[in-house]
Amino acid sequence: MKIPGLLLLSALLSAASGNKPPVTVRITFPPSKQHIIGELLTARQMGLLSSGGWQKSGVYHLSADAVPADLFFYQGPGSDTLYVGSVAAQDTAVQLRLPLVLRKNLLGHYVCPKCHKSDKTVTIVNSEAPLVRRTITGTDTTYSSIIGRKLYEGCISGGARAHCQRDNIRF
Ligand SMILES: [Zn+2]
Repeated sequence: MKIPGLLLLSALLSAASGNKPPVTVRITFPPSKQHIIGELLTARQMGLLSSGGWQKSGVYHLSADAVPADLFFYQGPGSDTLYVGSVAAQDTAVQLRLPLVLRKNLLGHYVCPKCHKSDKTVTIVNSEAPLVRRTITGTDTTYSSIIGRKLYEGCISGGARAHCQRDNIRF
């Protein structure tokens, strides 16, 4: 008996995805920011982002193939791509709150919401003339805007309060 090719292909695809339903991500905002429009981005490996679409309602549906993933929220040019949470392989619905409630350790350093550590976090400082650290190693000169536990940026805030150097995320 001959199995139609298309039927076989769809059977293989549904077996691969396990026929999992899409994952619902619901983001709630404080009353003053009820009408924020933003894009939900998913990243499985840092630097490889895919879009979960733009929504005004704060409700996004991710394909089961997109998880597990880290989730980021982006409001357009000039705004930071903010880490908002992670979704695990077994999750079918995720509820997130923006802005994130951030914790600080006893020294006043932010605790990263992803790795839950504070040893690699730096506070973002917005100033008119951002400071830059110059490092000369042999004949190579590199510049970094991270000095001590602060990351110096321009005077326009992109919305992020801190950055984790371990995870390379802003929050
Ligand atoms: Zn971290």
